[in-house]
Order: sequence, then C-alpha cells, then structure tokens
Amino acid sequence: MNNIRIHTLQRKIKLYYKKNSRLLPWRIKLGKNQDPYKTLISEIMLQQTRVKAVLDYYKVFLIKFPDIKSLALASEKEVLIAWSGLGYYRRAFNLHRAAKIIFKEYNGIIPSEKIVLRTLPGIGEYTSSAIASFAFGKEELVVDTNVERFIKRIFNMEDNSSKSYNLKELGEILFPKKNRGDFAQAIMDFSNDYCTKLRPKCHNCIISRYCDYKSLDTSQKIKVKKNKKYCVSYFIYDLKGFFFIRRRPISEILGGMYEIPSTLWKSSKKFSNINLITLDKNYNPIFLNKLIKHDFSHFTLFSKVIVIKKEKLITNNIKGLWVNKSTIKRFPISNLTKKVIDYSFEEISSLKKFL
Ligand code: SF4
Repeated sequence: MNNIRIHTLQRKIKLYYKKNSRLLPWRIKLGKNQDPYKTLISEIMLQQTRVKAVLDYYKVFLIKFPDIKSLALASEKEVLIAWSGLGYYRRAFNLHRAAKIIFKEYNGIIPSEKIVLRTLPGIGEYTSSAIASFAFGKEELVVDTNVERFIKRIFNMEDNSSKSYNLKELGEILFPKKNRGDFAQAIMDFSNDYCTKLRPKCHNCIISRYCDYKSLDTSQKIKVKKNKKYCVSYFIYDLKGFFFIRRRPISEILGGMYEIPSTLWKSSKKFSNINLITLDKNYNPIFLNKLIKHDFSHFTLFSKVIVIKKEKLITNNIKGLWVNKSTIKRFPISNLTKKVIDYSFEEISSLKKFL
C-alpha cells in the first residue's frame, strides 16, 4: 500500500474517532494524556474482558480504591472482593502486588517508561505499551487483539498462513508517527463498530477502499471447540442457613477465591469423591439434577452439586469455614461459586421435605 493510501486511511480513522469515540470513564479529551492510575486499573481489567463487562466493576473499584496508596495498603481479601465476578482473578493478585511495588519503590508514582512498567507483576507487552502511550503520551505501538486483527485485515494477512508477516513492521507502516495512543484507541473503537471479529461490516465501511481484506468462505473458517471439564461441588449446609466454604489452592484456577468445596476439575465425566469427608452410613446425600455450567476461556466446566446436611457429617477434614448468605459477602467468590450457591438454595427449598 502506498503512502498516500496509508495517509488517507489514517485521516479517515482519526476523523471517525473524533466524531464517534466511546465515552469511557478512564478516557480524557482527544490529544490529552489519561490519568495513569485510571489507565492502569482499566487496562488490567480489560485484559481478556470486554469493555461492557468492565464498566460497572471499574466504577466500584475506583470508589473503593481511588489511588495507588489505597490499593497498596488494602488487604488481598479486600481487593479480591472488589474484583469478585470479573473473573481471571490472577489479575487482581498481580495488580495488588504491582500497586505495592509502585507505592514502596516508586513513591506511589506510576512509572512512565514501558521498560519499567514491564517489570511490574501482570504487566506485559500490550499493557505496558498502553499505559506508556495513553497515560504518558509515549509513541508506542499499542497492539491489542482488535488492533492486531485490524492490521492483518488491512494487509490481508488474516487467516492466511501462506504469507509470512511481521505484525510490528505492518503496525509501523499503518500507525502515524505522532499521537499513536489516540490512533490505537481509534482503531479499537472502529473495530468495535465495524471491523468486528465475526461478520465485519465491510459493505458500509468507510475505509473499504483502502483495505485488502478478502472475507473467507465460512466453510474455510475453523470452529474452535472448547474442552470440557467436570467436578462435584459439595454443598454442606445446616438448617440455620449456614453453609461451608473453603479457599481454593493458590496454584489452581480461581486460586485464592472461596468456593463450595469441589473435586479436581477433570476431563473425565466420571465424578470422583472429595475423600476428605465421611458421612453417616445410613444417609444418602442428594445429587442435584442440573449440571452447573461455567465458561472459562479455554474450557467449559460442568459441576454436579451434591447437597449434604451438616448433621450427617461424621468427619470433615476440609479446611474451611461456615458462612451464610449475608457473611459470604465478606469473601471473594467467583460467578461460578455464586451459581452453585444460588442453585443449591433454590433446590434445597423445593426439596426440603425429602432431604
Ligand atoms: S473493509 Fe472490512 S475488514 Fe476492512 S477495515 Fe473495513 S470492516 Fe474491517
């Protein structure tokens, strides 16, 4: 693509952004630098999560932790509670660790250089470029999945394994030399409206003349099937509305979050026992009918819930604690755990006379 076409494309994208940029709480006027703390929080939250899902969490998080100091001095549990429901909890741990380092080693000032930002926990290539660019005006190439897809389409490199390409080189051709942060955000907004992952709106795209994308026949597209995993969740409860939870091992998925004790998540459909509890031998716990389904990025988990009355427990060697619907709010739990709790209570109340 020659320079004139590139410049026209850049101009059209910039104009589009000027007229249609999304109003997001961490953004500021075009051409101005964003607030570094707001940028840090929003960029970490946006890792693997859509803007729409982030908005409410972002607002509440900012009220609870308005600056680096409040975040650095908070307990891990407080941070996880504020993050509960947003998923990918490793991000919350890392953000908390990063805030502590910034507070202690950088006098509470977020570093502006990409190379320094990259040394902080949970901040990789994209996030460091985004913070340096959006908050400090550094002319970095900010390439998230939307920008990457856009670049590949413009140069017709998407789904085209026969052509070798260097994303960075293509990005350097496409991005202007100045105000790269605004340009990256412009592409993100444009991709959200037009150059979407599925079914891009090429027929009424304002830059279709400058784009080499050749839409593939749908039969050529490969459907990625997610793996399935299974587990059993042990909902142990008493008649006063208390139920048993435990903290998941830190090395596992959702590590550090609290859950209804579950067996290992395995690909085998054969449900195993938790082995840490023994029940009255005359008692038959009830397996609830429905499997709780929960999507993770690389697999789908199906949890079979078994409800057990506390008084039928002979031994319980699971390390954990008793909570009720009100005190559970003091603990960080995932959406998966919320689903298991809600479903268990719903079923217990309808099955009461049989349990
Ligand atoms: S023509 Fe289609 S693929 Fe190319 S930028 Fe526009 S929407 Fe994206």
